[in-house]
Amino acid sequence: WSSNIKPDRGVNVEVILRCRPLNDDEKQLKLPVVISCNEGRGEVSVVQNTAYKQIDKTFSFDKVFGPTSQQKELFDEAISPIVNEVLEGYNCTIFAYGQTGTGKTYTMEGGRVGEVESGEFPSDVGIIPRAVQQILDVLEARNEEYSMKVTFLELYNEDIMDLLAPDESLNGPDDKSRKPIALMEDGRGGVFIRGLEQEVVCTADGIYKILEKGSAKRHTADSLLNMQSSRSHTIFSITIHVKESSSNGEELMKCGKLNLVDLAGSENVVRSGAKEGRVREAGEINKSLLTLGRVINALVEHSGHVPYRDSKLTRLLRDSLGGNTKTCIIATVSPSIHSLEETLNTLDYAHRAK
Ligand code: ADP
Ligand code: MG
Repeated sequence: WSSNIKPDRGVNVEVILRCRPLNDDEKQLKLPVVISCNEGRGEVSVVQNTAYKQIDKTFSFDKVFGPTSQQKELFDEAISPIVNEVLEGYNCTIFAYGQTGTGKTYTMEGGRVGEVESGEFPSDVGIIPRAVQQILDVLEARNEEYSMKVTFLELYNEDIMDLLAPDESLNGPDDKSRKPIALMEDGRGGVFIRGLEQEVVCTADGIYKILEKGSAKRHTADSLLNMQSSRSHTIFSITIHVKESSSNGEELMKCGKLNLVDLAGSENVVRSGAKEGRVREAGEINKSLLTLGRVINALVEHSGHVPYRDSKLTRLLRDSLGGNTKTCIIATVSPSIHSLEETLNTLDYAHRAK
């Protein structure tokens, strides 16, 4: 088997903005809405007019999904083309970036749902099950031999936890087996994780069990460590291998990978100074979030040095960031005045990635 050569299409970063609807608390408090989305123009405006403060700023993105947008719409318009790239053998990464409570997990995983009925997903289902379904549909129709495997890990304080590790390894905070696992260098500039649990996926239903298993593990940890979920990243990776026969009878293995990354809450990025609005490090609260911003800036600005090595998140994703890959950032915001400051920070971070 030899690996097929793919045409190099350079750096490709797409930035999408999604604004969630007001939640019940915000409605009850009658909080003013300060965000307006123009989906047609791909623009988001932030407007605040008070006697003390006036803000009127507009940001443009590759795509904008307003408060009434549905999961299916976002998937069909923005994600489905990326899944097709993965099926062609490319490595792609989709990030959800935003303040805690703005819809990162809702967008990636979706609401907790029951069984899939008659092939149609309930409307709350997020990107991960839809991506798995699309991959299965396409590969089943092609009549080629294939395999699909997934891994699910959490990165907390630069420690890697396997969210699919067997249950016996989680017996409480003193359980010595709940140890972070090591990231190893493969000697060729890449990395791998020894002993990371891989699950084979054959049906889209199976993905719910895997997501639930992972989330349960994340939630158990939640009660042990305060605020962990807002300070940790999760990476759900789907790897597909497809066996193809070429015209001269040679067997080729096509391999594609899709990383779906639910990032830590962006309120953890410590900002200091207002120099050109740049995110600057002031301590070590979230190295991965800061480094990701720098890596993406370096990629889109084509500056020579890309600081992949500065965080575990970017080391882990190196084979799917920059180079011949596609990256999509979904920035999530709240429409309410309560979140105004963080919303402006998110819009700024996301806009700079363009
Ligand atoms: P995060 O992961 O960014 O902290 P969540 O995904 O947990 O935020 O979302 C917070 C709450 O808002 C959840 O109850 C979620 O169901 C709801 N929510 C988020 N985005 C949307 C949306 N676009 N439409 C409807 N409900 C949403
Ligand atoms: Mg979340």
